[in-house]
Amino acid sequence: MRRIIFATGNSGKMKEIREILSDLNVEVVSMKEAGITADIVEDGATFEENAVIKARAIMEITNEIVLADDSGLEIDYLNKEPGIYSARYMGEDTSYRIKNKNLIDRLEGVPDAKRTARFVCAVAAAFPGGEVVTARGTIEGIIGYEERGENGFGYDPIFYVPEYGCSTAELPPEEKNKISHRGKALRKMKKELKSRKVG
Ligand code: IMP
Repeated sequence: MRRIIFATGNSGKMKEIREILSDLNVEVVSMKEAGITADIVEDGATFEENAVIKARAIMEITNEIVLADDSGLEIDYLNKEPGIYSARYMGEDTSYRIKNKNLIDRLEGVPDAKRTARFVCAVAAAFPGGEVVTARGTIEGIIGYEERGENGFGYDPIFYVPEYGCSTAELPPEEKNKISHRGKALRKMKKELKSRKVG
């Protein structure tokens, strides 16, 4: 069976990725499982650029097909902050309780109509030989007034999805996967892989 490497160290993401790509006839392995350690500087200006930097760097080491993703939260009222800096916002080691409170505080007095936000995910595939393709998925929502829910991670407790009447931290994981930015981007990428006869 053909192998694809997913350039992430995050086991939660790997689980989600394996589920979504499970109908492809490929084995998806993490960098750790492939025995690769690499410190990649993500200095791109967009989600796509960062995903491509990661995928290409690992493809050049392994000469195998490599997928990578980059994601984050864009808040319109804050000029799309924290955006590509979502993981690094207020420092990588700062807890999300503090980051989420800070974002709610920065929106104090801002009405619902101006609290629009989205999660964005770009997935890149780098093929031996040099071809690179990207796929983007988004989910629209509004920033809540307090943290709600225990599921998910990161900014989920403050990301309220009006159609569902709850935050993404209040959705069961399977429900979130169906509508999430990462789920959408990965399903688009699956089509790109199939059209290249991968799996
Ligand atoms: P990266 O894509 O692993 O670089 O991480 C992006 C960062 O964006 C995460 O650390 C979270 O802060 C945030 N983020 C991305 N996707 C989600 C999500 O589904 N829920 C909550 N936060 C997210």
